[in-house]
This record gives sequence, structure tokens and C-alpha cells, in this order.
Amino acid sequence: MFTCNCSYLDEVHICPSCQTPMSCCEAPPVHVGDGLGWGSEVLFICLNNECPTFKNGWQHIELKYGHKGSYRCMELPGSHEKNVMMVASEYAFTGSTIDVEAAKLQNVRYVKEQEALAALDTCKKTRDLGPVLTLILDEAASLPNRQLAVGCLQEINDIACIDPLRNHTFNDTSLGQACNLIISEILKAHFKKECPHCAEIIKAQAHKCMYCKADL
Ligand SMILES: [Zn+2]
Ligand SMILES: [Zn+2]
Repeated sequence: MFTCNCSYLDEVHICPSCQTPMSCCEAPPVHVGDGLGWGSEVLFICLNNECPTFKNGWQHIELKYGHKGSYRCMELPGSHEKNVMMVASEYAFTGSTIDVEAAKLQNVRYVKEQEALAALDTCKKTRDLGPVLTLILDEAASLPNRQLAVGCLQEINDIACIDPLRNHTFNDTSLGQACNLIISEILKAHFKKECPHCAEIIKAQAHKCMYCKADL
């Protein structure tokens, strides 16, 4: 249901010229020559310096165009049509390879964020903290989405949200402050307070903490 356009992350492309795996690289913004984009954010490029297409390309370009350059084999995502790209040096594209495993993890995180966001309305009714905390505690999630989740806390009014929120370090201080305010409200609504010595949640009227035995 929620997927970003990252299906290429699972694609395997083998160079038709040297039979080694091609690298997933960021596409250059413009197709030099005709000024058109590639229609893809990534390209699969053979970066093997022993690849025959690359090794023989230098001489070919020298003879044909009289300048220094060679070819790299290239395929577009979703296609195994053989293409070549001109490169001016062996270093072209080596700096723009995509860490596919890291990108997959980012995608998993993104999908979780979208699922939690879609679940917010329902979890206010079912008093389910799961999606709310997923968003609030995900520092990589978008701030407006996290603020929406914070807005659900008071309605859910579950004291179980306090520990995970207290144990989290918020990079965004305003979000942390908003959580602190809501925690106070939830404690009040349950006639509870946090022990100033051990931070356990105890009765609001307690004069002695039942956890650390400190006098209050
Ligand atoms: Zn190759
Ligand atoms: Zn205590």
C-alpha cells in the first residue's frame, strides 16, 4: 500500500560486456547531448575498470572524436536494454554510487512512518499508543507528522506513554516540551505524579515513594 518509487533497490543488473554486477548510481540531472533527463533517478552502471567496453572505449573515442574518454555500460531500472554512457575519466560515477542496503533501510523507515500516520485517526478511538509513539520517537519522521501524533496523546490519555517519552532525547526541543506538558496533564488526570528522586510514577497524594522509599 505504501511504497515509494524505490523498487529498483531490489534489481540486479549484470553487465552484458563483462558479466559483473553493475552499480546503482545517481543519474546525472541532465542527459548531456540532448538536454533530456533520463526519466529515472538512478542508473545501473558497470564501474569495472577491466570491463572490455571500458578498456576498449579509450581507443575508440580517441580515433572517432580525437579526445580523451571512454564508455561505461549502463542499464535503466526495469530494463535490461544495453546502453553505454560516455565518461571523461575512470572516476566518473564512482562518487555517486548508492548504498543500496542503506537506502532499503530508509525505505522501511519511510513506509513505517506512512503506516503510522494513516493509523492515527483509528488509534485515537482504539486508544492504541503504538502508531503514535512510532511517529513521536522517530527522529527521522517529518515534524508535522510527529506534531500530529503528539496531538493524539492527550485524547488517548494512557499513562504507558510516559516512560518511552521520558527515555527519548528530542532533537526538536519544542516537540519535547509539548510532550512534557501533555505528560503533566496525563499524570493529573490519573491522580499521579513522578517521584522527584527515582522518577517512578506514584500516587499524587503519596508522602513516601513506594519505589525508592524517599520522603516527599
Ligand atoms: Zn562491464
Ligand atoms: Zn521514588
